[in-house]
Amino acid sequence: MAGMENPRRVGEDSRAATDANHAMALLGGIEAGGTKFVCAVGDRPHTIQASISIATTTPTETLQRVIAFFQPYALCSLGLATFGPIDLDRASPTYGRILSTPKLAWQGCPIVDILQTALGVTIAVDTDVNAAALAEFTYGAGQGCDPLVYLTVGTGIGGGAIIHGRPLRGRMHPEMGHMLLARAPGDTRPGGCPFHQDCLEGLASGQAIRLRFGAPETLPSAHQAWDLEASYLGQALATVATIVSPQRLIIGGGVMHQRHLLPRTRQACAQALHGYLPWLNTPSDFETYIVAPGLGDRAGVTGALCLAESIRADG
Ligand code: ZN
Repeated sequence: MAGMENPRRVGEDSRAATDANHAMALLGGIEAGGTKFVCAVGDRPHTIQASISIATTTPTETLQRVIAFFQPYALCSLGLATFGPIDLDRASPTYGRILSTPKLAWQGCPIVDILQTALGVTIAVDTDVNAAALAEFTYGAGQGCDPLVYLTVGTGIGGGAIIHGRPLRGRMHPEMGHMLLARAPGDTRPGGCPFHQDCLEGLASGQAIRLRFGAPETLPSAHQAWDLEASYLGQALATVATIVSPQRLIIGGGVMHQRHLLPRTRQACAQALHGYLPWLNTPSDFETYIVAPGLGDRAGVTGALCLAESIRADG
């Protein structure tokens, strides 16, 4: 079938798509990223029955494939966890549109309208990082931790938060990747954000590392880039800890696959806080406070299914 790329079934329940119409309606979830869209269906967010990964190309091509994946299923609701920025204000005429993203082909794309029209299902939308925070809060490393903050360090950097059990929304949504940082002494290389030279994303994203030092996956752990990276991430987490006072900070994303980086980030956060927070002093305090995602790279799509569950129509 056009647009289908070998749907992959996971878990023990291998109910066929063609049987779905005869069973309880399913939740649908989309993790929309700059590199790929991950789509999944399941009767609960943590019991994914089928999923597919689709390369992100143009909006028309990508969304046609997304729609083709979901069409065989009887969905009760759909959760969309997307890269931003996106207009989340239901009263706004541009609700559900991608805003001023560097992914220029997607700028202004009415992604929610397109999916809703094609699939005829109610859609809950939030940022990929708010959704990942919700998944970690519900099923992962953030259970029982409210507030909870989730930071992802990949090609870009984003942060989401759960407060009183719900993803944090404000005038728009948090844009933690663009918090401004103090430069490390001696760091004179240009930053990688077109809007700010000295924001977290501009100094510490995977793309920033690539521009400033070379491809992150090729840099040995002793490379100066990593001490600098840890210092910026530590500074950012110290700032989040003082502003939001979360019960736990989860830090994930492709750059954090460098296993040496998490302990170095904890140390840098401790140096930045300098003993100010009385409950965050010893190395073991930091080990339980700043942690890796419990759901690994599935946090985003699980979060999308959590969004779908929050509005499920079949009770
Ligand atoms: Zn920026």
